[in-house]
Formats: sequence, C-alpha cells, structure tokens
Amino acid sequence: MNLELSKKGLAIEPSVTLAISAKATALKNAGEDIINFSVGEPDFNTPKNIQNAGIEAITSGITKYTPASGTPNLKAAICKKLEEDNGLIYKPSEIIVSNGGKHSLYNALMAILNEGDEVMFSIPYWVSYPELVNIAGGKPVMIKTLEENGFKFSSSELEANRTSKTKAIIINSPSNPTGAVYSREELEDIANWAVKNNIIVISDELYEKLIYDNKDHVSIASLNEDIKDLTILINGVSKAYAMTGWRIGYTAGNEKIIKIMSNIQSHTTSNPSSISQHASIEALSGNQDSLLNMKKEFDKRRIQMADLINSIKGLSATLPEGAFYIMLNYSQLKGKEVEGTLINSSLDFSNLLLDKCKVAVVPGIAFGDDNYVRLSYATSLENINTGLGRIKDLLGSK
Ligand code: PLP
Repeated sequence: MNLELSKKGLAIEPSVTLAISAKATALKNAGEDIINFSVGEPDFNTPKNIQNAGIEAITSGITKYTPASGTPNLKAAICKKLEEDNGLIYKPSEIIVSNGGKHSLYNALMAILNEGDEVMFSIPYWVSYPELVNIAGGKPVMIKTLEENGFKFSSSELEANRTSKTKAIIINSPSNPTGAVYSREELEDIANWAVKNNIIVISDELYEKLIYDNKDHVSIASLNEDIKDLTILINGVSKAYAMTGWRIGYTAGNEKIIKIMSNIQSHTTSNPSSISQHASIEALSGNQDSLLNMKKEFDKRRIQMADLINSIKGLSATLPEGAFYIMLNYSQLKGKEVEGTLINSSLDFSNLLLDKCKVAVVPGIAFGDDNYVRLSYATSLENINTGLGRIKDLLGSK
C-alpha cells in the first residue's frame, strides 16, 4: 500500500509480553516441549458458579445492548464490593464498567489528559502503561525503582520528578511485573503528596485478591475523602476470578471523570458484553471459595519458584508479596558467555532460556529494566520444577 498511515498508530509498539507468549505457544503447537513462564493469566478455569451465570445469561435472553457504562445490577454489585472489601462508598454514577481493566485504564487516561500532560509511574512498569499514556496524548515519566526498596517509589521520588505538567501518577499494587505491594504507610505518604499538589492517582488494583502472607490490600482511595476525590480506582474480574477472556474491568472515581469516560465508551465500544457483565455479578457477589483455593495454590508456587531460582548459580529473586510474577535477577551473568552465547541483555538471556532449556520468560526490557526477566507462576508446580530444573542443569547450583 502506498498511503501515509496514522503517525499516532505507527508510533505504538506491539505488546512484547503478548508477542513472546505467542512465540512460545507456536513452538509448543509445533511439538516442542516448552515450559511457558511468560503467561499473564491464571491457568485455572473460570469457577463453575460463574460459568453457570454466563450460561444463564445466554439462555434467559440477557443478550441485548445494556447501558453503555454497564448494567445497574453490576454497578450495584461493584459498589457493594468496594464498600465491603475496601471501605469505600461510591454511588452507581461514580462507576463505569469497561471491556477489561486495560480498557478502563485507556478510558481513564483519555478522560483526564491533555496534550503533553505528564503521567508518572515506576520502572519496572506494566507493559501497557507507556503506550496507553502516549495514545492519550500524554507523556510518560518513569521513575526507576530498585529491588532493595521492594521496587517501590515514595513521595520524595515523585516530588523530584514533578513539573508543572504533572497530571497523574499510576500506582499498581500488587504490581505486575514485580509483585510489590504498597503498605498503608507508604500509600499515606504518596496520598499526602498527591493531595498537596492536586495530582490524580490512577490506582490499578487488578491483582488485589492475590496478596500473600496474610497482608492486606489497601486502596489508596480509602485513606481519606481528599485522596478519594483524586483517585481513579481501576479493578476487574480478570485475574482474581480467572476471567481474562470475559473482558470485564471497572472504574470508580469522581463523577465528572466517570461521565467523560462513559461518553468516550458510548461512542467507541458501547457496553461490555451483557453475558460477561451478568457473570461478573456472580463473581463479585457469589461464593468466594474458588478464589481462596486459587490463591493457596499460587502461594505454594510462589515460594517454590523463588526457592529454586535462589538455588541456581548466577541468579537471584526476592520473594514477591502479591500477583503471580517473579522478577528474576540475572545481572551477575551479564557480559559472560553461557554455552557459547554472550549474555548482554535480558533479550539475550530470554533467548538462551528458550533455545537451550525450552523455557519461555519475558525479557525485563519489556518492563523497562534490562537486569531482569519476568517469570509467571500461573502454571503447575510440576512445570515450575521441570522448567527451573532445566535452567539449573544449564547454569549449575550455588
Ligand atoms: N493492569 C495490570 C497491572 C495488568 O497486569 C493487567 C493485565 O495483564 C491489566 C491491568 C488489564 O487487565 P484486563 O485483562 O482486565 O484488561
């Protein structure tokens, strides 16, 4: 084709995590014995009670358009959830349901940003944050965080990067890719700074239900009324209820912002699937046992994966507090050769693991930090033992 296509569209990078997952799946489908640690979704099926609610929606005719911003019944279930789990009181007019958490984030950024407005978030970041900010005309400002600080920033780093253009920050707790969980005190520090400087906090709480060691999830919006007014709370059913394919995310926030998001959504995607919305009511309001069982399984795998990584020569990992990912630090191997392959980058190291061990991981450069690769433990203990066993055979024991 000999036409000039959209400059804005051409500037968008493809999602590296999805690309690597696809490569690993293609190799597997071609008969290779691949252990895939690159996936970003639970390996469990959607719980039976939620499946049945979806079937009920289809057979009982809940198959038509719904209000563009979501059904009153699902909004009511979300309000109830936010009150019971997070101590937050929202009205239905302060809620919008979208096609997954990613869509919620997109709508939120489209609703608040003007050209050149800055949005701060940490490195390592979730892959889509930079591009979502770019698409909405904003400018990503990334704050490098360190493993020894739990991959978290504080108000002093935010203040050091604040300019007259700073419009918002994104906090992702628990975090993809690091598993970092911000404590109440850390959130208070950030909330005080945000209120003082009148800065919006986008709080991505998709992994809320996956926090280990009896730690609690704190939503920054729950700290006081001032920060609640500045917070755009994003959550969804994808990760907690193994519902990644159903595409339901939601946003709670100031009515003015929710209204703009609803208007954008009404002209772009309209309502999220009526069937998925009906099933999500069951997810949020029904029996929660399956969620607890999944969390128990993730916890065992988390500990096993971290222990195994820390037993391999040249590798290390800090035990993450939430989500289902581990950042594996391979930096001791940088500049060295392993079986004839020179390791200079996270991409080199990921390719080495795929070629020599048939293990798929995500290079840290996808999250802005080249000293790591990300492993997901949303896979069986058996796969964790086999995959890390192969890496140990390649690199040796400590
Ligand atoms: N936020 C984070 C940190 C995520 O990891 C993901 C999914 O990978 C999302 C948001 C989006 O979730 P959804 O699948 O509901 O769009």
